[in-house]
Amino acid sequence: MKRIAILGSTGSIGVNTLKVISHFPDRFRVIGLTTNSNIELLSKQIKEFKPRFVCVSDNKAGFALRKKLNTANTKLFIGAQGLEALVSIKDIDKIVLAISGAAALLPLLKALERGKEVALANKEALVMAGPLIMDLARKKKTKIIPVDSEQSAIWQCLGEEPRSRLKHIYLTASGGPFRTVSPAALKSISISTVLRHPKWKMGKKISVDSATLMNKGLELLETMFLFGIPSEKIKILIHPQALIHSMVEFIDGIVLAQLSSTDMRIPIQYALSYPQRISNSLPVIDFYKLQELHFAKPDFKRFPCLNLAYRAARELGTMPCVLNAANEVVVSEFLGKRLGFISIPKVIERVMDRHRSKLSPHLSDILAADKWAREEAYKAIRAI
Ligand code: NAD
Ligand code: MG
Repeated sequence: MKRIAILGSTGSIGVNTLKVISHFPDRFRVIGLTTNSNIELLSKQIKEFKPRFVCVSDNKAGFALRKKLNTANTKLFIGAQGLEALVSIKDIDKIVLAISGAAALLPLLKALERGKEVALANKEALVMAGPLIMDLARKKKTKIIPVDSEQSAIWQCLGEEPRSRLKHIYLTASGGPFRTVSPAALKSISISTVLRHPKWKMGKKISVDSATLMNKGLELLETMFLFGIPSEKIKILIHPQALIHSMVEFIDGIVLAQLSSTDMRIPIQYALSYPQRISNSLPVIDFYKLQELHFAKPDFKRFPCLNLAYRAARELGTMPCVLNAANEVVVSEFLGKRLGFISIPKVIERVMDRHRSKLSPHLSDILAADKWAREEAYKAIRAI
């Protein structure tokens, strides 16, 4: 029996993780759940899964829950410190990190410091502080198991093969909702069309990132840091069917790919059950019906966020953190209807142009770069 805590249990990955867990009551027990402020859904999850510990990061929502929660069986933590306290609880065997954005960084570092095994869905923390995170995991001899479908695929295909035998990674991308939309039409794109991803149903932030292809840019950096692979060896490949979740090409020309139906519960289940595989009733690919697989080169002109991510991957230091922070601001401004879709890459580029990357940054440098980039992004938006 593995005792699992899910950080960000009220989000898309969190809810899917609970769906997986509910099928295997004799293998997994939910011991901790957290949300930023969605106490309505958290309350339902508490009733169903009876976790011993919960945390609400937002203070106001936390105090509102305290008024109605029966704390005899469930201990409630509140705020950022509360989240760190929950992560440190001895009885937790595995932490699923499904908080979106930079807010995942400190809880992730705390979890690793405590030697916890982490099933990592969040990509922004790795983009911000990949080398720090991976060093800490090595030092504490703990595992980071990828949940993001592409990273799970690469991890499974790489196996124990030494990096010297690797030629390329093909990081696949569905291409998002605007793969075939003309550049002119991108100027007047609405929020609802951005959020309607053709293949995946996800949280709002990652849906916007999928439409700009910044999601793939963030995954380029995620892949680099998670597996220690330079960006020149990572090729982004458009694959609209989203059945191949990525491929690894070795020096002898052999390519291994991981395929499964387009359903996040599959990589989530493997991240929970690893090193075992458990039989389930999730959808499978019908290859007789499928017949063909399609691929294309990404269009870097139409999706400039890809170039920005490769640039951050070359410059390294604090630049990936700056890319991520500026992107979080523009995505939230776009969702608030204060910024047009095509301005997204322009603002990020402006912030990156103004940044002098600090190499081998400490955590304090990363947090300072994150704060600086957010302020610069707001300035750049005002200047548009
Ligand atoms: P979401 O927006 O649906 O959910 C985010 C969760 O994090 C919620 O529970 C929310 O309450 C919590 N949260 C948000 N801000 C917080 C804060 N400041 N402090 C504490 N908790 C906070 O997001 P999602 O789509 O589930 O994605 C989560 C992460 O997983 C992201 O980093 C995303 O890139 C990654 N990911 C998601 C998918 C997917 O299919 N949704 C696939 C691959 C990777
Ligand atoms: Mg992905």
